[in-house]
Amino acid sequence: MIYIIANWKCNPKSFNEAKRIFNLVKEKTKEIKKTKVIICPPFVFLPKLKTKNSKLQLGAQNCFWEDTGAFDGEVSVPMLKSVGCKYIIVGHSERRRYFKETDSVINKKMKAVMKHNLKAILCVGETKEEKRKGKFSMIISRQITKALKGIPKKDVEKIRIAYEPVWAIGSGKPCRPVEAQVASLFIKRTLSRMYTRKIAEKIPILYGGSVNRKNAIDYLKEAEMNGLLIGGASLRPQEFVEIIKQAENV
Ligand code: PEP
Repeated sequence: MIYIIANWKCNPKSFNEAKRIFNLVKEKTKEIKKTKVIICPPFVFLPKLKTKNSKLQLGAQNCFWEDTGAFDGEVSVPMLKSVGCKYIIVGHSERRRYFKETDSVINKKMKAVMKHNLKAILCVGETKEEKRKGKFSMIISRQITKALKGIPKKDVEKIRIAYEPVWAIGSGKPCRPVEAQVASLFIKRTLSRMYTRKIAEKIPILYGGSVNRKNAIDYLKEAEMNGLLIGGASLRPQEFVEIIKQAENV
């Protein structure tokens, strides 16, 4: 199974535009077999975007860790589940950076997603500065071990991990496929240490960071990634559909 995940971030500006993009992707993905497409729009559009195709599902870009309560402006996992959301992105670098999400906050969110039996897409990745200082392995292993702290083996099947080097996101400077492959092997080794090798092998590892119609196939074929997390190009429906078609033929 290959995962092609659209992260729309804070886009588009209107529901009409969201519906246009979504319906175009929906129409063109009716026949897909090998690929799972997950669209993660802003919260407000989620209940209005409908899909009956199990190969095209909805995800959220964030969640809160409590179910209900006096927490202004937050959106909880059961709320997301009740409007048809199946996946939740947790720990995206923009949440870590602009909203100061710490490893411990990310861990609480991961546990909330597990508790309600949704699937989590955990994002990990080093900044340019951390890469320059040779801190790649330290950062990635810290982000994974802290995010998954206390999550039992039985829940691991609900986790997908996206390697998203911060310097490659939205920069038009993607990471080389071989670097993504090395990161994927390192992530698997970290997971093997936490769980077992057999369990680690079952967790899909995706790549994200300036993926487009020209380079997508390199990550899927050459780097053997289990899928892609796509920002900018996922808002260009023709290009996004083209990437899905490439994934179908891997
Ligand atoms: C992202 O938002 O997770 C992302 C990878 O964005 P982009 O594809 O635009 O780099």
